[in-house]
Amino acid sequence: MSDSTPFSADYAAARQRFREGAERLQWKLEQWPIDAVGPSGEELTIDVACSGPADSTRVLVISSGLHGVEGFLGSALQVDLLRSWARQAPPPVKCLFLHGINPFGFAWLRRFDEQNVDPNRNFLLAGQAYEGAPPGYAELDGLLNPRYPPSRWDAFLPRAAYVRLRRGSAAVRQAVAAGQYEFPQGLFYGGAGPGTAHRLLPRLLEPPLRGSQRVVHLDLHTGLGPSGHCKLLLDYPLDPRQHAWFTRHFGAGAFETHDAARTAYQTRGGLGQWCVAQNWSADYLYACAEFGTYGPLRVLAGLRAENQAHHWGRPEDPGTQRAKRRLKELFCPSAGRWRQAVLERGRVIVEQAVRGLVEGDGNSL
Ligand SMILES: [Zn+2]
Repeated sequence: MSDSTPFSADYAAARQRFREGAERLQWKLEQWPIDAVGPSGEELTIDVACSGPADSTRVLVISSGLHGVEGFLGSALQVDLLRSWARQAPPPVKCLFLHGINPFGFAWLRRFDEQNVDPNRNFLLAGQAYEGAPPGYAELDGLLNPRYPPSRWDAFLPRAAYVRLRRGSAAVRQAVAAGQYEFPQGLFYGGAGPGTAHRLLPRLLEPPLRGSQRVVHLDLHTGLGPSGHCKLLLDYPLDPRQHAWFTRHFGAGAFETHDAARTAYQTRGGLGQWCVAQNWSADYLYACAEFGTYGPLRVLAGLRAENQAHHWGRPEDPGTQRAKRRLKELFCPSAGRWRQAVLERGRVIVEQAVRGLVEGDGNSL
């Protein structure tokens, strides 16, 4: 396959490029199949590549595709890094790359998994219940989750704009996207119990992280924030030393903690707080790296239309195909300028993460 672009047209090509990149570096490769197939009947796997024993106490984890269709950029950045590290030396830390954590969503061009679960709302901590919905979600259910096939005439955008005007955008965003456990075919459904990614990740992550002193985990996402920009979003509280570490290595404006969120909203069941709570490492620093694409209302309209088509349309219907193609564009714009900007930004963040791993914060590790 050509080295020209790291962006792939579909899940199967992305997976192949990722595996080729890891093989070229002679990284150890694993594949973890899930119990579902892609649109052409293809096998769906989470692919894990690990750089071997180099300095195993400091580990850089880069994961893609937790939100399925968002994996097009995540995969491209992983492939780009693998290719460039094959030309120059890879970083002096252990690297663990997870490709397509939600391979069903990646292959079927949707954010959610084969059970309609949003994996980034599914990682509830021990003692938290898979129930409830944010105040206001039930009222918006009819607008967000129509129970009929899509049609060409749809008044979602003006209706949503009206709701946003009446209630305020922050309140609506919180009600819609925080995560709900009551509407199994609805948007941002967090599941009735641990989903596929939640069941598999401990088995994938724990063995290579065993014995590590510090882990920096970048989980790659798209669709939130200004186009082409990147924000690191943290869904767990930082202690002052960790806060200083993020400030020193990424800059004060580059990240948002969960209690001071402006780009994001407070969610339940996020991957970050769950990874941190597993105590796999003495110091687990996680950040969801969010790359902006289009405005929030357009992205929400696209998510709604795809979810409607997925549940109520037939896979071969032109309307279903259109909704899925549109979602891919919303989460991975085809414009060359955007793609170049996010790759460049992504490379910088990875360099900063590696420097932070190597230099630490002055404490002896
Ligand atoms: Zn995401």
